[in-house]
Amino acid sequence: MRLQEIHIGLDDIDSPKGGCTTHFASLLVEQLSRQSIKWIDYPRLIRLNPGIPFRTRGNGAVALQLLFDTSRISDLIEQIEQMVHNYVDETYPNTNPGAVIVTGEIPDSVQLLSQQALWRMIPIELAQRLVERYDIVHYKGGNGRGLIGALASVGNALEHDHTYEFIAYRSMDQSGFKRGVEPESVLEMVERMKDRVFSNIDPDEGRVLIEPHGPDPVIYGIRGEAATDVIEAAGLVRSKQDVDRWMVFRSNQATAEHLTHTMTIRDLRPYMACLVHGRVESRPRIMEGGHVFFELGNDDERIDCAAYEPTRGFREIVRGLRVGDEICVHANVKPRSRTHGLTLNIEGLEILNLGPDVLLVNPDCPHCLKRMKSAGSGKGFKCFRCGFKDRNAAKVEKRAERTIKEGLHLPPLSAQRHLTRPLARINRSNSGRPEHLVSKWHSH
Ligand SMILES: [Zn+2]
Repeated sequence: MRLQEIHIGLDDIDSPKGGCTTHFASLLVEQLSRQSIKWIDYPRLIRLNPGIPFRTRGNGAVALQLLFDTSRISDLIEQIEQMVHNYVDETYPNTNPGAVIVTGEIPDSVQLLSQQALWRMIPIELAQRLVERYDIVHYKGGNGRGLIGALASVGNALEHDHTYEFIAYRSMDQSGFKRGVEPESVLEMVERMKDRVFSNIDPDEGRVLIEPHGPDPVIYGIRGEAATDVIEAAGLVRSKQDVDRWMVFRSNQATAEHLTHTMTIRDLRPYMACLVHGRVESRPRIMEGGHVFFELGNDDERIDCAAYEPTRGFREIVRGLRVGDEICVHANVKPRSRTHGLTLNIEGLEILNLGPDVLLVNPDCPHCLKRMKSAGSGKGFKCFRCGFKDRNAAKVEKRAERTIKEGLHLPPLSAQRHLTRPLARINRSNSGRPEHLVSKWHSH
């Protein structure tokens, strides 16, 4: 028996009735741990381009890296396929599970696909071509879309910044019931752990963020800077439902790994995640539904930018922008629709340089100091109080105080993407891969 390094990539192993790829991964880890193997890395939870619309559950894929008896690879993919069949309701439309097993080094073009999958839209055909070219052992269901995330996860070794998440699961038959995470225990945990954990409570609203609301098997997920930190934190959280199993993931969550490309407006394409520098070209306006829009310009091109209603207080910052402000938008590019052109969905806003807030207003009456009204086109201004008229008067500039500050502004934590680097992590970075794993990083 010869143990060799293998990478298993998993994606889209879920269905609307419950289940999720990370939970499936924890079942597979349990199965594998009973065999003669050696884990090389924590399971990696890789979040992909958040602007891709085909899936709703945060666009996360999972990679496992281990030493494995490679004479048994075909048994392994059969085992995974059987587990997927038992786990997923494949008759449900838009269920497209994918799994890959890569032996040894990850090919450069698979690594390139991983980088692209963070900020571009990847065609299924490209993933399919790579699987064929490198003869990658795989399983695909539905339209094969799961192959994209499966390849993207094995190709992302998280060599740079990364974070950890402890995910606690309930048993599947409990997934219709209330989780009952106790908010006091979460508050106490955050108090104790300080900045070793993040994004667990919304500081503005005091709302607990670790508990999801869908029918999935996750009871809670705790995010932090080290495996030991999230494990310690989980020991402090209480829930009504029993924890059936748990696992620690290493992740690109909260690293902004998707926002590394700066684009001109001309070069934007639908579904890109990128940074767009420019000048505010129109005063922000609030539209039906509470969405706020303004125009951004660079290189003689313009594009609409939108802050949507769920970003709540963040919209007030956006509304404070004025024509001439220099900004950098952290954006997802929404494609053209019947009602809109290409639009930047604002995920974050860096205000680089605030200009003056200048309004042109009617002049004041020199006698009673009230603002005059227009006396008609080309006829100057007239005071309706005392009757004073001035044919030659012109509008005057009025400067207002700016209500917003330069710097980075983000939506509230509850409206942030998994990949968004929260303010709590602005000057933090965990670099390098862990040299060894903690002795117990999963329950079974
Ligand atoms: Zn007057």
